[in-house]
Amino acid sequence: MADAAIQQKQFLSDKVERFTESVIREMTRQAMLYGAVNLAQGFPDFPAPADIKRAAQEAVANDINQYAITWGARNLRQAIARQTEVWQGISADPETEITVCCGSTECMISTLLAVCNAGDEVVIFEPFYENYGPDAILSGAKPRFVKLRPPSMADGEWTFDERELRAAFHNQTKAIILNTPNNPTGKVFTRAELELIRDLCVEFNVLAITDEIYEHILYDGTKHISIASLEGMRERTVTINGVSKTYSVTGWRVGWTIAPFAITNAIRKVHDFLTVGAPAPLQEAGAAALGLASEYYQKLAHGYRARRDRLMPALAEAGFKCFRPRGAYYVMTDISGFGFADDLAFTRYLVKEIGVAAVPGSSFYNDPRDGARQVRFAFCKRDETLDEAGKRLRRLPSRI
Ligand code: GLN
Repeated sequence: MADAAIQQKQFLSDKVERFTESVIREMTRQAMLYGAVNLAQGFPDFPAPADIKRAAQEAVANDINQYAITWGARNLRQAIARQTEVWQGISADPETEITVCCGSTECMISTLLAVCNAGDEVVIFEPFYENYGPDAILSGAKPRFVKLRPPSMADGEWTFDERELRAAFHNQTKAIILNTPNNPTGKVFTRAELELIRDLCVEFNVLAITDEIYEHILYDGTKHISIASLEGMRERTVTINGVSKTYSVTGWRVGWTIAPFAITNAIRKVHDFLTVGAPAPLQEAGAAALGLASEYYQKLAHGYRARRDRLMPALAEAGFKCFRPRGAYYVMTDISGFGFADDLAFTRYLVKEIGVAAVPGSSFYNDPRDGARQVRFAFCKRDETLDEAGKRLRRLPSRI
């Protein structure tokens, strides 16, 4: 058997040898295997809004069951254009500037495939959502990492060094990937930070590819700013978003890109041959979701703030040092206090012996050693789930 596996390896591409399957999604499988509480993968375990589930059911019943237009159902693109104007003041032409894909995940890979040539460099803040690494490899781009440094005080912010960022830009730089509100740190980039990034993009003629999937999940009075809304950026930004996190429907796989006409054209070509289109009835339901009243979004953020404030004390009590997130629904923690060899040994122990699944920090870093003292917990879960996790975590032996 082992011989057969070696034999089969010769058929594989060099690219796939350079990355593994997602650790985040592997942790969900382990949670199921060991009956652990899953605070690893970021998906809600509570119901999606009834109205939008009804819209999905009606779409199927009304026979919206064939392919939508490849770039997305027209009414969904119109709803995206309308809401992007309302929320971010960005106007986009639904006919020429918006492309609906199978989740933000496909948006990101389609964009990179559409813009990168072999050897192009892409700047990525680190720690980063793990998809960006394989995305860069698959598109032939060379990632160039810039560190986000954890706050020194529990209540501080993750920051980057301006000189380090500047040093990452040069004439091979094609794009910068930005994720705000950020997964896994919970950082919400400030206007001043975005302006700095904008200035570098303009100076070095670089594209910004911005993943804004947590747009509405904000705490402590932070505001989300789309870099495309900054002067000089609309024509050099691909803005990525989707229904997954805002409407608690991560399995629907409906996301979108907003980009200037020529870039949209290129993204549409890649998208067409990758997946043809996102699920048609769920695009209809997505259009309905984008029509929800503004109270919905306030409640969403409020609900997540309450969940954050429920999980963080439980983590602190169990011996974790927590970095308070300002947005998105993850808490990055420091596990130094437990005295484990590294994050992998720790999360293995956690899922098997304690019954809680979390994501090892190394999966968010290029060099695993940089994440060896960090572990991420997702709190997009029901109170009962968070409380059960808290109860189990109290069994963790604190070694110092
Ligand atoms: N963004 C989610 C996370 O970080 C996972 C998304 C996915 O698995 N596609 O956990």
